[in-house]
Amino acid sequence: MLFTHDTELNLSFLQALGDTVAEASESGVDELATEAQLAALLAAWKFSGRIDNDARELRDVRAVRDRIRDVWGADEQTSVDWVNETLVRARAVPRLVDHDGLGWHIHATDLDTPLAERILVEAAMSLVDVIRAGRLDRLRDCEADDCVGIFVDLSKNGSKRFCSTRCGNRVAVRAYRQRAQEV
Ligand SMILES: [Zn+2]
Ligand SMILES: [Zn+2]
Repeated sequence: MLFTHDTELNLSFLQALGDTVAEASESGVDELATEAQLAALLAAWKFSGRIDNDARELRDVRAVRDRIRDVWGADEQTSVDWVNETLVRARAVPRLVDHDGLGWHIHATDLDTPLAERILVEAAMSLVDVIRAGRLDRLRDCEADDCVGIFVDLSKNGSKRFCSTRCGNRVAVRAYRQRAQEV
């Protein structure tokens, strides 16, 4: 394991969140356009704590999605500044908690803090782990040239190149066709 379980889980969630944009989603349209879509995403990732399920929350989470996509793959200093600014602005106070059988992990917001802010602060806390481990190289952009997907490479050898098997397959098929034409 590269990071602690809760950090790996959260990074995977952030990948899923970031890849809901139209240019990365499987459907080719924005998959975080409605409150129902947000509710489905949260349910799939078993989100707890305050969930308002209203238009404002959706708007704020969409804005957070942009901020996370911005910092994903950024250089070390940019990432450090992003983390510090995010934690200061949210007045984050880290504490150890244990709930839902997850074991001891860190929360830096209260469960009644608005969802978008919790996602943002948790992203910052996960980045703390990634930066401290010297593993920012594992937060990558999809190498398919028609995809703006982001992904975290949690594999042992760190050789992942695409946000999804869908992108990997598409690029492989295209390369195969190109080779076939050249023969
Ligand atoms: Zn927790
Ligand atoms: Zn992709």
